[in-house]
Amino acid sequence: MPEIATEQVHLSSMDRAYERSFDAKIVKRGDDYVVLDRTLFYAEGGGQEWDTGTLAWSGGGARVTRVDKKGIVKHHLDRMPPPEVVDVHGSIDWPRRHAHMRMHTSQHLISGLVYDLFGGVRTVGNQIHAERSRIDFRPAKFTDEDLARIERETNAVLARALPVRIVWEKRSELEKRVKPDRANLDLLPASVQDLRVIEIEGMDACPCGGTHVRNLGEIGRVRVLGKVSKGSETTRIEYELEPAGATVP
Ligand SMILES: [Zn+2]
Repeated sequence: MPEIATEQVHLSSMDRAYERSFDAKIVKRGDDYVVLDRTLFYAEGGGQEWDTGTLAWSGGGARVTRVDKKGIVKHHLDRMPPPEVVDVHGSIDWPRRHAHMRMHTSQHLISGLVYDLFGGVRTVGNQIHAERSRIDFRPAKFTDEDLARIERETNAVLARALPVRIVWEKRSELEKRVKPDRANLDLLPASVQDLRVIEIEGMDACPCGGTHVRNLGEIGRVRVLGKVSKGSETTRIEYELEPAGATVP
């Protein structure tokens, strides 16, 4: 167990993922990073990129250039605060974060639809970026018609503006209502029993530690850009969103 656990406020509920600024205390320092007692910055993980933003303190401030969590959540800065600084005010770059939330929620929907439409094709990887994201499927060899179908079916569901929720659920309960390979439950270590499940109402339920929108209506439309073969059985699909930039919920 890490000696310092940063409270990741943005992961505690769907609504708190919409907060953009916060007060915190520095509890540890490294060469180019600080560890905070609490944060709204998403740390890179699960295919989703980190949040950027600023930390401000009395008399100064710095850019948060990268956030990772190898044991502890490290906020990497372009300059370090003076040694006496403890209290900081953090602000995340909201357009980037909201783009990640829209992209990540789209990924859940696309992955679920592809599993259903193509007879159990699994998602074996994903990379969520603000401008363009990608999902790796296996076993899959999509035709251009297949890609058009994925885009059409995804956009038909997005147009329904379904709510998205976080459900805290026992693994044994989730296993009763979803196919384990559809939600990649069979890849989770046996020690993981309490799950944070992201549920798109009536469409999908999948354990995930990322940030997501609370309604599909925030996403707009998905445009499937193309496919890349990543081996004999794996196909990568790339997609972007329209509108491309962040919308304000
Ligand atoms: Zn997710």
